[in-house]
Amino acid sequence: MQLSDEQIQVRDLVRRVAAERVAPRAAEIDASAEYPQDMFDLLRELGLFTLPFPEQYGGSGNMVSACLAIEELGRVCYNTAYLLVVQWVPFGAILAGGTEEQKQRYLPGLASGELRGAFSTTEAQSGSDVAGIRTRARRVDGGYRINGAKIWCTNSAVADFIIVAAKTGEEDTRGAINFFIVPHDTPGFEIGPKEDKMGARGLPSCPLFFDDALVPEENRLGPEGKGFAIVMDAFNQSRPIIAVRGVGLAQGAMDLALDFLGQREAFGQPIVDFQGVRWMLADMAIQIEAARGLVYKAAAAVDAGVRGKELASMAAIAKCHATDTAMRVAEDAVQLFGAAGISNEFPINRYFRDAKVLQIVEGTNQIQRNIISRNLIAEARSR
Ligand SMILES: Cc1cc2nc3c(=O)[nH]c(=O)nc-3n(C[C@H](O)[C@H](O)[C@H](O)COP(=O)(O)OP(=O)(O)OC[C@H]3O[C@@H](n4cnc5c(N)ncnc54)[C@H](O)[C@@H]3O)c2cc1C
Repeated sequence: MQLSDEQIQVRDLVRRVAAERVAPRAAEIDASAEYPQDMFDLLRELGLFTLPFPEQYGGSGNMVSACLAIEELGRVCYNTAYLLVVQWVPFGAILAGGTEEQKQRYLPGLASGELRGAFSTTEAQSGSDVAGIRTRARRVDGGYRINGAKIWCTNSAVADFIIVAAKTGEEDTRGAINFFIVPHDTPGFEIGPKEDKMGARGLPSCPLFFDDALVPEENRLGPEGKGFAIVMDAFNQSRPIIAVRGVGLAQGAMDLALDFLGQREAFGQPIVDFQGVRWMLADMAIQIEAARGLVYKAAAAVDAGVRGKELASMAAIAKCHATDTAMRVAEDAVQLFGAAGISNEFPINRYFRDAKVLQIVEGTNQIQRNIISRNLIAEARSR
């Protein structure tokens, strides 16, 4: 796709910073599983926290630019790219479902990096099936009392507030869910110890516990019983950001494989000169280019104002294909490294571990396929 001058500037700036300052930290962040505060400070310094959002918040209002930044960071460090995504998810939720007062209270802080957020729907008994959550927000004088427990809330350990899904409807119903902005110091709210993860290790994912936690009414996002749909609908617009992480990861894995194969020899010649290896590399490039095309098509559609089912399908196709591509390319790259692919001395196994996470988060790839096929069938039936 043809990029504008502004988009090229964003890509080139982030590419340079990624190579010079992010790449040298990537292995250490993964090995230590410690939150990379220095990378957060770097992204804040670069002013990237508002990139996809309207100009009034200091952003570019451009999803293609946001994808370019994530691709360049994800090419060298999954965790640093993830720092942008976890800042953008609560930003997008409040922008879509928040009142003017909520926007004033939270968005400038998220934009400047003075505030950090997290987003939580998943519970022990229900991940994909969000309607199966059991956390409940009971209306009381002055607000809501929240009771229940969540798991896998990424960034919660460092967040100033968490956007939490809870049911406001009658007991044992599946509907009527709202999101609530829960400040981290709310009495009755606690964050448990972080998961020891295979991938995405730099950002903590923790369980949350709510024991009669009181949240004022002005912290509810959207009208009671309707806020969930508003926020989830807006997430179709940000799905290219999730998808492009797959493109960046796959590109980074192929870069590493190319470097390695150019240096290593077998049977008296560089391994990169074997035809079978060259075809594997060509297949990687074909898949990455196809994924890139789908992702930037979806991002450009967001910028062009495409919405509804058309965007939902396009974004789901992009997420599925790009993250499946990341997994396939990372797996082949490990194979091409031989035993070095298994050794922690080399970076490639990190790409393999992080790629698997991408197929599971932000709606598993089976759930994306459900969205795609549901829309296909509905369209066929309406003809
Ligand atoms: C690193 C990481 C970070 C995360 N961060 C967050 C976060 O910040 N906030 C948050 O709320 N959650 C987070 N999650 C949780 C994530 O969103 C869920 O893991 C995901 O939605 C899947 O839910 P589950 O694990 O309960 O799997 P389940 O829903 O139990 O599914 C198990 C398997 O069955 C498949 N399946 C389920 N239903 C169907 C169906 N209808 N058709 C076909 N297949 C189906 C799934 O695709 C999956 O393969 C995170 C997870 C990980 C791994």
